[in-house]
Amino acid sequence: MNAELDLGLERRIGKRSAAVIEKHLGLTTVGGLLNYFPRRYLSRGELTPISEVPLDEEVTLIARVISSSTRQMRARRGSLTDVVISDDAGTSSGPGRASGAHPGTLKVSFFNGFRAKAELQPGRRAMFSGKVTRYGGSLGLTNPDFLLLDEDPDTPGMDPEKLAAMPIPVYPATAKLTSWSIHKVISTLLDTADLEALGDPLPAEIAAREKFLPVADAYRLIHSPETPADWQRARDRFRYQEALVLQSALARRRAQLAAEEATARRPAPDGLLPAFDRQLPFTLTAGQAAVGKTLSEELAQDSPMNRLLQGEVGSGKTIVALRAMLQVVDAGGQAALLAPTEVLAAQHYESIRRTLGPLARDGLLGGFGSDAVQVTLLTGSMPTAARKQAMLDAASGTAGIVIGTHALLSENVSFYDLGLIVVDEQHRFGVEQRDALRAKASKPPHLLVMTATPIPRTVAMTVFGDLETSVLDELPAGRAPISTHVVGLSEHPAWAGRIWSRSREEIDAGHQVYVVCPKIGADDDGDFTPGEAAPPDADLEGENGSRELASVTGVVEHLRDEPALAGVPVAPLHGRQDPVLKSGTMASFTANETKLLVSTTVIEVGVDVHNATLMVILDADRFGISQLHQLRGRVGRGGLPGTCLLVTALEPGHPSRRRLDAVAATTDGFELSQEDLKLRREGDILGASQSGGRSTLKLLRVLEHEDVISRARQDAQRIVAADPSLSGQPRLAAAIDEYLNPEKEAFLERG
Ligand code: ADP
Ligand code: MG
Repeated sequence: MNAELDLGLERRIGKRSAAVIEKHLGLTTVGGLLNYFPRRYLSRGELTPISEVPLDEEVTLIARVISSSTRQMRARRGSLTDVVISDDAGTSSGPGRASGAHPGTLKVSFFNGFRAKAELQPGRRAMFSGKVTRYGGSLGLTNPDFLLLDEDPDTPGMDPEKLAAMPIPVYPATAKLTSWSIHKVISTLLDTADLEALGDPLPAEIAAREKFLPVADAYRLIHSPETPADWQRARDRFRYQEALVLQSALARRRAQLAAEEATARRPAPDGLLPAFDRQLPFTLTAGQAAVGKTLSEELAQDSPMNRLLQGEVGSGKTIVALRAMLQVVDAGGQAALLAPTEVLAAQHYESIRRTLGPLARDGLLGGFGSDAVQVTLLTGSMPTAARKQAMLDAASGTAGIVIGTHALLSENVSFYDLGLIVVDEQHRFGVEQRDALRAKASKPPHLLVMTATPIPRTVAMTVFGDLETSVLDELPAGRAPISTHVVGLSEHPAWAGRIWSRSREEIDAGHQVYVVCPKIGADDDGDFTPGEAAPPDADLEGENGSRELASVTGVVEHLRDEPALAGVPVAPLHGRQDPVLKSGTMASFTANETKLLVSTTVIEVGVDVHNATLMVILDADRFGISQLHQLRGRVGRGGLPGTCLLVTALEPGHPSRRRLDAVAATTDGFELSQEDLKLRREGDILGASQSGGRSTLKLLRVLEHEDVISRARQDAQRIVAADPSLSGQPRLAAAIDEYLNPEKEAFLERG
């Protein structure tokens, strides 16, 4: 609690202003408005480049008036004042251009704009706000408003040079409330609020070490800076504060989870795990062995393991998880493996049973015994009888390892003694789902989360910040490299046919081929996995809008008449098929009966068929970078070199084609995920489940501020370790509560 921050705004800025702020910005407290930071700053002395102003957004810009004219309206009473404003960039490019269509000019129209007519004389500089829209060839500003800059009453008698350098804060504004009105209200608040009483959420030693501004000064300078250095210093402080609050919330959650009591699952010297290790046909990589040791030790503790395992595609995460599951089974517990799709759950079920060999038994053989473990599949689409049996086996403890999809999360699924949950391949599971699964056990179970592709460190620290992280960064020995090529049909139309003869060569050599399409049929949207963002510019491509995208049914049809593939067994696979058909198709492909599989991204994650060597991705520009990296990871798995063809009809140099070039240029998943995330919006990175918190980040950018985030994480870890309840840091504790629960402001009693 902080009395000043939680104080109702009307106590500091009056009823009327408080009502306006609440109506337009939804803020009701002193803290809420003080923390409404400028989005950026304009330089008072410089005009804003109009070409850089985003379309269809409320903007604030500084421009010079070029011309002004007023006419009576014909259709209704009143006059219209048209003002052309400029950033001075286009106007010097000479005469002869249509007026209003200069680059760097905007037309602003005011209905009955008496003030505009009087004040916006040619040559005047003013700040304008409104929404930038395009009419025909020229740009206009709708719902415009303005503030003359030359005789700004805020700054009487200021040295002109200093004045020109003075930054003007730009707030996220609305159509009804301009940035400068917001600034005015905040200026009043800065004068009336008791800033000295705010106290500092940052521990004093950190503020001293980082030479941060005192809180009161920082609030003044972020809202009313005199120089760019002022707001930069203030912003650095609040950014760090944001990182520390976030990381302390996560550190506290980690500490709370670790303080829970779990059942220790110690290794058994004569159990299934040692037997499994003896029969493994390969040796573990150094990374697998090291991570395996960590997991084994953590499982043997009586506090729950909460670990993220991230690794390159094909680095062998499944074996690591399976070995952990066996240790739990050896100790008398059950393990659950949660997969994102039915195809992947079924594939895991098959391959884990195959890998276990005689150490696995299915339900029918019956009987308890420590010489084998029952592996059970449980998915939503299973026939009722089989599903009921699987649920019974989970509840009775007959099933040692239960593999399934989201269905495992449903209420009527229960376990006899759930000791370990493995969440495979997903950045799609948020904190809530992790908690839902944890609730399946009477005591908190151990938890292992595995990502599909590597993710940047700072993303791991925020999105999965409540988990400890392990990384598998090497691929098993003998892994053949995958070579990736961009096949540009716009320059080489003939290559379209070459793709199929290349496929035939692969099949004649005894291997298999995947063909991936963005759509299922001629008129649908494909298999979009929930939570997976489409590539950022997927809908903006005129080129593709007019052209038919490759679809599974269309390609299968086409291949029937393709001479190069005559007699080759081809099968379609997509998410809308009957589950029995799907698993039949997968089984036939795994058995090397189907030679060429035409599918959607259902095969994106985890599918593991060693004999497949060629991956053809049609209209590859429709997929995101991580998706493409995942997809190509399906080939080159069995020691046979893999090839991936990224087929596109886009012109070279098109932004979406550069994404393909990036994928072709490297097989380093960390590098690619960094690249991928740069193209996405922060919100997509963090997702709805953002690190257990409910609010959005203000000043912190997960990819840009790695240094800030890791320093804050270390500090947070230290602070929470020394003082788990944060009783010595009440201001920090309050800031964490505010971060986790921003809605609380709405419920506070006012006045
Ligand atoms: P991912 O990390 O992408 O989930 P998988 O667990 O599917 O990778 O492993 C890919 C393939 O590598 C599997 O066929 C697996 O059996 C094999 N594999 C795993 N570990 C090793 C190893 N140490 N040596 C050789 N092959 C391995
Ligand atoms: Mg996997």
